[in-house]
Amino acid sequence: MKTRFDYLKEMNIDTRWLNRSKDSKPLTNPDKNSIAILKNKVSECNKCMLASTRDKIVFGSGNLESKLMIIGEAPGKDEDLMGEPFVGRAGKLLDEILFSMGVTRDNVYITNTVKCRPPQNRNPLLEEIESCSDYLNQQIRDINPSIIILLGKVAANRMLGTEEPMSELRQRIFTHNLTDTPMIVFYHPAYLLRSPSQKKQMWDDIKYTLKYIKENDCSIN
Ligand code: URA
Ligand code: SF4
Repeated sequence: MKTRFDYLKEMNIDTRWLNRSKDSKPLTNPDKNSIAILKNKVSECNKCMLASTRDKIVFGSGNLESKLMIIGEAPGKDEDLMGEPFVGRAGKLLDEILFSMGVTRDNVYITNTVKCRPPQNRNPLLEEIESCSDYLNQQIRDINPSIIILLGKVAANRMLGTEEPMSELRQRIFTHNLTDTPMIVFYHPAYLLRSPSQKKQMWDDIKYTLKYIKENDCSIN
């Protein structure tokens, strides 16, 4: 008889993470300390040229025990001023997306591919994302989410090492190269604000993700 693993394999879904159940995580998270040390280190970072134009570092925020991690592109103007990710208009839409998935900001951890705002909100350069990637990788290791959502083409292309268009990246399961954490790509909320006709597709992506989470016995709240 075919098992769930067989079906998932046929669907080209990576099954290596299936044993990582919610219960396998220790009750007290020993990596809180590590995250605090990392945040301190990032607060003094000058590794790339974004250091010279930032106001505040946007390290990331949310629940350190979270099973769901969201990775956006880069801080914008509001985030740079506040030091928090997704506080502007795109953040409101992100809240709605999270709400429709049955979670709130209190259950998730949100960060970006780079921790400093690129001037004039340009896309972060590959070299800037690479300079910042050790911090992001350590956040992923310490928080140890069950699933990561990458927001938008820039974050997806850089994290997945591909130039494929969004149409090819949606509704697929990728894995983080260092931790094997499953990763799913969503439209960036700022793009959805500019192209509201894509919201229907966003909803399809949410349904796909919820189905995947359910089929893999992975709670995100
Ligand atoms: N857009 C992002 O990608 N990240 C933020 O933190 C805010 C807007
Ligand atoms: Fe350092 Fe990252 Fe900021 Fe560049 S973007 S200065 S690597 S924290």
